[in-house]
Amino acid sequence: MSTQILVVEDEAAIAELIEINLVRAGYGVRLCADAEAALAAIREQLPALVLLDWMLPGQSGLDVARKLRAAERTRDLPIIMLTARSDESSKIAGLDVGADDYVTKPFSPRELAARIKAVLRRRAPQATDDLVVLGALKLDPVSHRVSAGGTQVELGPTEFRLLHYLMTHAERVHTRAQLLDQVWGDHVFVEERTVDVHIRRLRAALEPSGADDLVQTVRGSGYRISAGGN
Ligand code: CA
Repeated sequence: MSTQILVVEDEAAIAELIEINLVRAGYGVRLCADAEAALAAIREQLPALVLLDWMLPGQSGLDVARKLRAAERTRDLPIIMLTARSDESSKIAGLDVGADDYVTKPFSPRELAARIKAVLRRRAPQATDDLVVLGALKLDPVSHRVSAGGTQVELGPTEFRLLHYLMTHAERVHTRAQLLDQVWGDHVFVEERTVDVHIRRLRAALEPSGADDLVQTVRGSGYRISAGGN
Protein backbone atom coordinates (compact mmCIF):
# COMPACT_ATOMS: atom_id res chain seq x y z
CA MET A 1 0.00 0.00 0.00
CA SER A 2 1.66 3.22 -1.10
CA THR A 3 1.57 6.37 0.99
CA GLN A 4 -1.47 8.41 -0.03
CA ILE A 5 -1.21 12.14 -0.68
CA LEU A 6 -4.23 14.32 -1.27
CA VAL A 7 -3.51 17.18 -3.65
CA VAL A 8 -5.96 20.08 -3.49
CA GLU A 9 -5.27 22.35 -6.44
CA ASP A 10 -7.73 23.98 -8.84
CA GLU A 11 -5.26 24.64 -11.64
CA ALA A 12 -5.42 21.43 -13.64
CA ALA A 13 -1.99 21.79 -15.25
CA ILE A 14 -0.26 22.25 -11.90
CA ALA A 15 -2.26 19.44 -10.30
CA GLU A 16 -1.31 17.10 -13.11
CA LEU A 17 2.36 18.01 -12.90
CA ILE A 18 2.36 17.38 -9.15
CA GLU A 19 0.57 14.08 -9.64
CA ILE A 20 3.05 12.84 -12.23
CA ASN A 21 5.99 13.65 -10.00
CA LEU A 22 4.54 12.23 -6.81
CA VAL A 23 3.49 9.01 -8.52
CA ARG A 24 7.01 8.74 -9.91
CA ALA A 25 8.31 9.17 -6.34
CA GLY A 26 6.19 6.19 -5.27
CA TYR A 27 3.21 7.95 -3.68
CA GLY A 28 -0.44 7.29 -4.31
CA VAL A 29 -2.19 10.54 -5.33
CA ARG A 30 -5.75 11.74 -5.19
CA LEU A 31 -6.60 15.07 -6.81
CA CYS A 32 -9.32 17.47 -5.69
CA ALA A 33 -10.08 20.83 -7.28
CA ASP A 34 -11.82 22.56 -4.40
CA ALA A 35 -12.32 22.59 -0.63
CA GLU A 36 -15.61 20.69 -0.63
CA ALA A 37 -14.22 17.84 -2.70
CA ALA A 38 -11.14 17.72 -0.49
CA LEU A 39 -13.11 17.56 2.74
CA ALA A 40 -15.32 14.83 1.27
CA ALA A 41 -12.26 12.84 0.17
CA ILE A 42 -10.75 13.14 3.65
CA ARG A 43 -14.00 11.99 5.24
CA GLU A 44 -13.80 8.92 3.06
CA GLN A 45 -10.16 8.11 3.66
CA LEU A 46 -7.46 9.83 5.69
CA PRO A 47 -4.45 10.48 3.48
CA ALA A 48 -0.91 10.49 4.91
CA LEU A 49 -0.50 14.15 3.94
CA VAL A 50 -2.43 16.98 2.29
CA LEU A 51 -0.88 19.29 -0.24
CA LEU A 52 -3.17 22.27 -0.06
CA ASP A 53 -3.29 25.17 -2.48
CA TRP A 54 -3.97 28.48 -0.81
CA MET A 55 -6.06 30.07 -3.57
CA LEU A 56 -9.05 27.86 -4.30
CA PRO A 57 -12.46 28.76 -5.69
CA GLY A 58 -14.95 29.08 -2.80
CA GLN A 59 -13.37 28.24 0.54
CA SER A 60 -9.65 28.96 0.59
CA GLY A 61 -6.91 26.52 1.46
CA LEU A 62 -6.51 28.42 4.69
CA ASP A 63 -10.16 27.68 5.58
CA VAL A 64 -9.60 24.02 4.85
CA ALA A 65 -6.46 23.92 7.01
CA ARG A 66 -8.35 25.58 9.84
CA LYS A 67 -11.17 23.03 9.60
CA LEU A 68 -8.77 20.10 9.54
CA ARG A 69 -6.97 21.36 12.62
CA ALA A 70 -10.24 21.92 14.48
CA ALA A 71 -11.54 18.35 14.04
CA GLU A 72 -10.19 15.60 16.24
CA ARG A 73 -9.86 13.08 13.44
CA THR A 74 -7.71 15.36 11.29
CA ARG A 75 -5.96 17.41 13.96
CA ASP A 76 -2.61 15.74 13.32
CA LEU A 77 -2.92 15.33 9.56
CA PRO A 78 0.29 16.69 7.98
CA ILE A 79 -0.43 19.72 5.77
CA ILE A 80 1.81 21.49 3.29
CA MET A 81 0.39 24.72 1.86
CA LEU A 82 1.05 25.70 -1.73
CA THR A 83 1.03 29.38 -2.39
CA ALA A 84 1.83 31.88 -5.07
CA ARG A 85 2.49 34.49 -2.45
CA SER A 86 5.83 34.66 -0.86
CA ASP A 87 5.22 37.57 1.46
CA GLU A 88 5.86 37.15 5.14
CA SER A 89 2.28 37.80 6.29
CA SER A 90 0.80 34.92 4.30
CA LYS A 91 3.55 32.65 5.55
CA ILE A 92 2.69 33.54 9.11
CA ALA A 93 -1.05 33.08 8.48
CA GLY A 94 -0.39 29.61 7.05
CA LEU A 95 1.75 28.52 9.94
CA ASP A 96 -0.74 30.10 12.36
CA VAL A 97 -3.52 27.77 11.27
CA GLY A 98 -1.15 24.88 11.77
CA ALA A 99 0.32 24.06 8.35
CA ASP A 100 3.47 22.00 8.79
CA ASP A 101 5.30 23.58 5.92
CA TYR A 102 4.76 25.55 2.79
CA VAL A 103 5.99 25.72 -0.68
CA THR A 104 5.89 28.84 -2.82
CA LYS A 105 5.00 28.57 -6.51
CA PRO A 106 6.75 28.08 -8.80
CA PHE A 107 8.57 25.17 -7.20
CA SER A 108 10.67 22.36 -8.58
CA PRO A 109 9.29 18.82 -8.31
CA ARG A 110 12.45 17.89 -6.47
CA GLU A 111 11.94 20.59 -3.85
CA LEU A 112 8.33 19.54 -3.36
CA ALA A 113 9.30 15.87 -2.92
CA ALA A 114 11.98 16.84 -0.39
CA ARG A 115 9.52 18.95 1.62
CA ILE A 116 6.96 16.15 1.64
CA LYS A 117 9.53 13.67 2.84
CA ALA A 118 10.74 16.00 5.58
CA VAL A 119 7.20 16.60 6.88
CA LEU A 120 6.36 12.88 6.77
CA ARG A 121 9.57 12.04 8.67
CA ARG A 122 8.59 14.46 11.36
CA ARG A 123 4.86 13.80 11.53
CA ALA A 124 4.22 10.33 10.12
CA PRO A 125 7.49 8.35 9.98
CA GLN A 126 5.57 5.13 9.30
CA ALA A 127 4.59 6.65 5.94
CA THR A 128 8.21 6.99 4.77
CA ASP A 129 10.45 4.26 3.41
CA ASP A 130 13.26 4.96 5.87
CA LEU A 131 15.01 1.99 7.44
CA VAL A 132 13.96 1.65 11.10
CA VAL A 133 16.21 0.12 13.75
CA LEU A 134 15.24 -0.63 17.33
CA GLY A 135 17.42 -2.81 19.53
CA ALA A 136 18.11 -5.98 17.58
CA LEU A 137 15.23 -5.31 15.19
CA LYS A 138 15.69 -3.89 11.74
CA LEU A 139 12.77 -3.12 9.44
CA ASP A 140 13.22 -2.10 5.83
CA PRO A 141 10.05 -0.73 4.21
CA VAL A 142 11.65 -0.75 0.75
CA SER A 143 12.41 -4.48 0.63
CA HIS A 144 9.63 -5.25 3.11
CA ARG A 145 12.08 -7.19 5.22
CA VAL A 146 12.48 -7.53 8.94
CA SER A 147 15.44 -9.02 10.73
CA ALA A 148 16.14 -9.63 14.40
CA GLY A 149 19.77 -9.98 15.39
CA GLY A 150 20.62 -10.60 11.75
CA THR A 151 18.05 -13.39 11.30
CA GLN A 152 15.27 -12.90 8.79
CA VAL A 153 11.77 -12.69 10.30
CA GLU A 154 8.75 -13.68 8.22
CA LEU A 155 5.71 -11.49 8.86
CA GLY A 156 2.28 -11.22 7.31
CA PRO A 157 1.31 -7.80 5.84
CA THR A 158 -0.69 -6.71 8.91
CA GLU A 159 2.05 -7.74 11.35
CA PHE A 160 4.54 -5.87 9.18
CA ARG A 161 2.50 -2.66 9.28
CA LEU A 162 1.87 -3.07 12.99
CA LEU A 163 5.58 -3.53 13.72
CA HIS A 164 6.45 -0.61 11.44
CA TYR A 165 4.06 1.67 13.28
CA LEU A 166 5.21 0.53 16.72
CA MET A 167 8.90 0.87 15.80
CA THR A 168 8.45 4.39 14.43
CA HIS A 169 6.55 5.32 17.62
CA ALA A 170 8.61 3.41 20.15
CA GLU A 171 8.52 3.84 23.92
CA ARG A 172 4.91 5.07 23.78
CA VAL A 173 1.80 3.23 24.85
CA HIS A 174 -0.83 2.80 22.15
CA THR A 175 -4.38 1.81 22.89
CA ARG A 176 -6.02 -0.84 20.74
CA ALA A 177 -8.28 1.86 19.27
CA GLN A 178 -5.27 3.99 18.31
CA LEU A 179 -3.56 1.03 16.69
CA LEU A 180 -6.71 0.20 14.74
CA ASP A 181 -6.89 3.79 13.43
CA GLN A 182 -3.22 3.95 12.54
CA VAL A 183 -2.56 0.49 11.22
CA TRP A 184 -5.90 -0.73 9.92
CA GLY A 185 -7.33 2.65 8.86
CA ASP A 186 -9.83 4.75 10.75
CA HIS A 187 -12.85 3.69 8.71
CA VAL A 188 -12.22 0.00 9.04
CA PHE A 189 -14.62 -1.51 11.51
CA VAL A 190 -12.91 -4.38 13.24
CA GLU A 191 -13.06 -5.40 16.85
CA GLU A 192 -10.36 -4.33 19.25
CA ARG A 193 -9.44 -7.91 20.01
CA THR A 194 -8.22 -8.16 16.40
CA VAL A 195 -5.24 -6.15 17.59
CA ASP A 196 -4.49 -8.79 20.22
CA VAL A 197 -4.59 -11.51 17.58
CA HIS A 198 -2.01 -9.74 15.43
CA ILE A 199 0.19 -8.84 18.40
CA ARG A 200 0.21 -12.54 19.28
CA ARG A 201 1.23 -13.44 15.71
CA LEU A 202 3.90 -10.76 15.76
CA ARG A 203 5.35 -12.07 19.01
CA ALA A 204 5.28 -15.62 17.74
CA ALA A 205 7.26 -14.57 14.66
CA LEU A 206 9.80 -12.71 16.80
CA GLU A 207 10.10 -15.40 19.43
CA PRO A 208 12.89 -17.51 17.90
CA SER A 209 15.17 -14.45 17.98
CA GLY A 210 14.11 -13.41 21.48
CA ALA A 211 12.94 -10.03 20.13
CA ASP A 212 9.35 -10.77 21.19
CA ASP A 213 10.32 -9.27 24.57
CA LEU A 214 10.43 -5.84 22.92
CA VAL A 215 6.66 -5.92 22.36
CA GLN A 216 5.14 -5.16 25.73
CA THR A 217 1.60 -5.36 26.99
CA VAL A 218 0.70 -2.42 29.19
CA ARG A 219 -2.08 -3.71 31.39
CA GLY A 220 -5.30 -1.74 31.06
CA SER A 221 -3.84 0.48 28.31
CA GLY A 222 -2.51 -1.29 25.29
CA TYR A 223 0.84 -2.03 23.71
CA ARG A 224 4.26 -0.52 23.52
CA ILE A 225 7.50 -1.43 21.84
CA SER A 226 10.62 -0.62 23.79
CA ALA A 227 14.28 -1.10 23.01
CA GLY A 228 14.77 -1.83 26.68
CA GLY A 229 12.55 -4.92 26.57
CA ASN A 230 10.61 -6.02 29.62
CA1 CA B 1 -5.20 27.89 -7.03
